[in-house]
Amino acid sequence: MAGGDANATRLKPAKLALLCELMPDETTASFVSRLAARNGVGSAAVFCKHFGTTFRKVCEGDPRAKGIIAAISGLDPGVLSNMAVRPLDRLFVHNGQVLRKEGLSRRDVRYCPSCLDDDLEQSVRADLVPQYGRSQWLFVILARCPHHSEPLRTIFNPRSEHIEDFTWHLRNRTPSTRLP
Ligand SMILES: [Zn+2]
Repeated sequence: MAGGDANATRLKPAKLALLCELMPDETTASFVSRLAARNGVGSAAVFCKHFGTTFRKVCEGDPRAKGIIAAISGLDPGVLSNMAVRPLDRLFVHNGQVLRKEGLSRRDVRYCPSCLDDDLEQSVRADLVPQYGRSQWLFVILARCPHHSEPLRTIFNPRSEHIEDFTWHLRNRTPSTRLP
């Protein structure tokens, strides 16, 4: 289109055919991690790159990244923003709560094995990537699962490019996984 508005040529990414359901207590990072796996992409980092953004920006609720994920997932950008862990000065905001950095476990991946078993049992299909990261698992103060009363497990010091890529860690967990 000669002489057209430059913005008119910036195409909005299309909604994906293969989707995941965002769970009520799921972080945006976990959701996008599952969406990548659902679409057969090896990591959330590579998946986000396909759409011209980064997984880090998605995790932190960057407005443009949020718009991209909203467009490809069909979700409301406000919901994605709420469940992101957004930096605010030296604090973080998540789901309406202001949190101190020390109170969050963002480098290590924490999970309850029984919750993940429940996810699989309650899902009609494993290819929907039903196992998801609960936002409360980010909180260092929480040592046990409130539903199963068992200690949360931790995958320590995940490789930097896969921080917060929940599904990647579930698929690649190694003997380094141990109880905290
Ligand atoms: Zn549990």
